[in-house]
Amino acid sequence: MNAGIPAAARELTDRLGPDAVATSGPLYDRTRRVWNGAVTNRPALVVHARGTADVQAAVRAARDHGLPLSVRGGGHDWLGRGVRDGALVIDLAGMRRVEVDAQAAVATVDGGATAADLIGAASPHGLSAVTGTVGAVGVAGLTLGGGYGLLNGRFGLALDNLLAADVVLADGRAVTADADHEAELFWAIRGGGGNFGVVTSMRHRLHRADPILAGTIFYPLPQAAAVLDRLNEVLSAAPDELTVAIAMLTGPGGAPGLGLLPAWSGDPAPGEAHIDRLRRLGSPAFAKVGPTTYSDLLHANDEQGETIGHHVACRTRSVPHLTPDTVSALVKAAATFTSPLSRVLCGQFHGAAARVPVESTAFGLRRNHIMATIISWWPPGDAEPHQTWADAVSEALARDALPGGYPNGLSPDDTTQIADAYGPNATRLRAAKTRYDPSNTFTATPLP
Ligand SMILES: Cc1cc2nc3c(=O)[nH]c(=O)nc-3n(C[C@H](O)[C@H](O)[C@H](O)COP(=O)(O)OP(=O)(O)OC[C@H]3O[C@@H](n4cnc5c(N)ncnc54)[C@H](O)[C@@H]3O)c2cc1C
Repeated sequence: MNAGIPAAARELTDRLGPDAVATSGPLYDRTRRVWNGAVTNRPALVVHARGTADVQAAVRAARDHGLPLSVRGGGHDWLGRGVRDGALVIDLAGMRRVEVDAQAAVATVDGGATAADLIGAASPHGLSAVTGTVGAVGVAGLTLGGGYGLLNGRFGLALDNLLAADVVLADGRAVTADADHEAELFWAIRGGGGNFGVVTSMRHRLHRADPILAGTIFYPLPQAAAVLDRLNEVLSAAPDELTVAIAMLTGPGGAPGLGLLPAWSGDPAPGEAHIDRLRRLGSPAFAKVGPTTYSDLLHANDEQGETIGHHVACRTRSVPHLTPDTVSALVKAAATFTSPLSRVLCGQFHGAAARVPVESTAFGLRRNHIMATIISWWPPGDAEPHQTWADAVSEALARDALPGGYPNGLSPDDTTQIADAYGPNATRLRAAKTRYDPSNTFTATPLP
């Protein structure tokens, strides 16, 4: 055992109390359990932080005792990078407060808050934030990497709505990063992931997004190719108010098919016509689209975010539009599912998100595109067929894919994609890493 572990545990227990530090037992087991049941990592010790001072103490203890560090937010990284083997894990589950200034339309969000925490606090004021589609995902983990979601067209990525962040750096200092302070750090954390420090608090811009016209239009698989082909025209003409997610998945009847998941945020009247076009791309098996709220939309996906012990393998590819090869790759993916839970989820990136100049944040891909997440998801058992399926779908989508990929979905093995994942921002991002974390204390999503 690393001699630093008992020393760090003792030191942190003295400072933070016995309930906040664990090398085994219920707190340890609860913390190391993450969304992907295939992750069986055993951290050296977990530190349950309750505020910035606790985070600073944990970062300094890891440095002083030579322990690798890991930061756990919502626990939804598919590779379990929040709870690395042998690491000192800073668990932020005790830092989930969200305060809303409704007049300024700004939320102050603790570093461990989830999307559901944020929307739960904002929605009573008639406000929403840009989040992903699942409430249990951590706001910081999502935002630092990007933040694709159904409001991207109207309000940009989640990181485009980050106004400021309080960050504990590798040397234990706490700084505020915004447009006027630590501007290079503020640039780097908007796309560079958790590679620069622990975000203890963030300010997020809020919006009036409700009512939203949203739901599911499900087409049986035999119609999928034709529908996807026609969908190109709708997507390329989509106004900012409309963002459409595309899902190849198993439908309620048990047969695979194509789900279109549109969200129209804005004046409802013109929205109806846009949704209607999506309904008329074929003969849907069912179409349930109607007025809702962003909060209800998020809760509709609660099941996807639950930690149920199933095993997962993810791959990601971004394509410029639905080319014929992309369409056939998506249709084949659904026709060859190795588990009814598996799916390919595609997020439309356009509008406000695509108008942000690429050099203004570290996020590397600002042209219109469709970001596909290939999710192989199965009850514990032989992983091989499921991983082979995910690899095959990824290879097929690679034919027409843009270089790189969404950093939050890439693994360290995806070296070719990592090299291009930050586009023209890679050199500046590496320089920021050298400046703020020269000893590579924070090893989050891979940098080139
Ligand atoms: C079910 C599901 C749905 C998803 N939906 C979307 C989606 O709609 N859109 C989208 O863009 N992505 C989506 N993702 C991907 C998600 O954004 C990333 O996996 C994200 O990293 C998860 O953050 P977390 O805090 O929940 O995870 P964790 O595993 O806790 O953390 C992942 C990493 O984030 C970093 N991190 C987390 N919190 C902090 C912090 N406070 N300070 C510094 N670093 C931190 C750390 O490096 C950590 O290793 C989804 C993932 C899942 C599993």
